[in-house]
Amino acid sequence: MEINLIKSSGLSREVFTQVMDLLQSIDGPLTFTCDPASVIDFFYDEIVPRSFGNPDDFRKKKLPPQIHIHMNYSIRKPEFNHTASWETLFSKCTTYRRQHGIADDAFAILLTPVSNKYNWFSAGNPENPYDGFVHTADWEQFLDSASAFPIAYEVLALVLQKFMFRNREDMQQLVHLKPVGCVNDLCMDKQEIILKLRTADICRPCMTALRNGLSDQYIKHARAIMESLRVKMLLSQNFLQDSAPSRMRIDRHKRIWLTDFGNLELRFNPTEKALYLFFLSHPEGAAIGALPQFKADLFELYSQFSTTGTRAEMQQRVDTLVSVTGNAASENISRIKRKLVNALGDELAAHYCIQGANGARKFIQLDRSLVTREGL
Ligand SMILES: [Zn+2]
Repeated sequence: MEINLIKSSGLSREVFTQVMDLLQSIDGPLTFTCDPASVIDFFYDEIVPRSFGNPDDFRKKKLPPQIHIHMNYSIRKPEFNHTASWETLFSKCTTYRRQHGIADDAFAILLTPVSNKYNWFSAGNPENPYDGFVHTADWEQFLDSASAFPIAYEVLALVLQKFMFRNREDMQQLVHLKPVGCVNDLCMDKQEIILKLRTADICRPCMTALRNGLSDQYIKHARAIMESLRVKMLLSQNFLQDSAPSRMRIDRHKRIWLTDFGNLELRFNPTEKALYLFFLSHPEGAAIGALPQFKADLFELYSQFSTTGTRAEMQQRVDTLVSVTGNAASENISRIKRKLVNALGDELAAHYCIQGANGARKFIQLDRSLVTREGL
């Protein structure tokens, strides 16, 4: 099953790539794809400025007129930047679908920071639920984590809901106005999204409906991705710090995966990665002052990852990295640490960081029996 993600202007390339990475991190029959060169724009007459009223207004969702659910709290207008009608947002999917020759039974999901008339996190097109949008802005108001986690989750939710709801009546029956930690929690008070993301679950009635519409292999894959999102998000928020360190798999492309943490990928730039893999191969560690003697090893690693410059330029960068007069190695070690702490939280990151006092031997503490390497 093919799920096309459409990048709207205003959404950073970085977040879009993170969302793709998260959704692609578990192998299975759901195929997430995109056209990296394509960006969807909005015309001036398609968006209007969001109105500024009560500062809390943007927290509340509204119901479109065709959906009737009894609400017992007041709803006010959202605010912030620009907003568009659901029809406009869905029309972007239709256009993209036509331009890219996407099959009728493939999904086309727009990721956009443009907010929507009813202030929803995401919605599928009632006329064609293979089309949908996810609002990519404002997440920092609700969550203390990278926005890519909830955005990826909402993409999955749209896919699952397409197969849970045969029609509008199903939808009105299955959604939970009161949050239960299910993918179909409506989260009319948008702060309730926290529970849904923490559980990343599907309640029994909703699962029964899903099984009626979608075969097991897809459900299994979707749930594995949901679980991986849940774990990765909690780790990044400094939860799960009591967990044992995960096994580490280095694949034949030298991508580094933490398999017990929802197949979390440790992403480094070429220099950081060369340095990291060097220390990983040297459990005994090495002082920064000793790095020049390993210049050939580091160059060998670096040249596998770097995609820019001539061989001489790459050599120059490795020379800079190991230079005892410069600070490049320490700076890279700090950046690696920051990335690990952001992804894993302080305590768990300690197993994976390159550590050691200034001037002393640097090493990675990780129990090497947890590390497997492929294709060597
Ligand atoms: Zn449910």
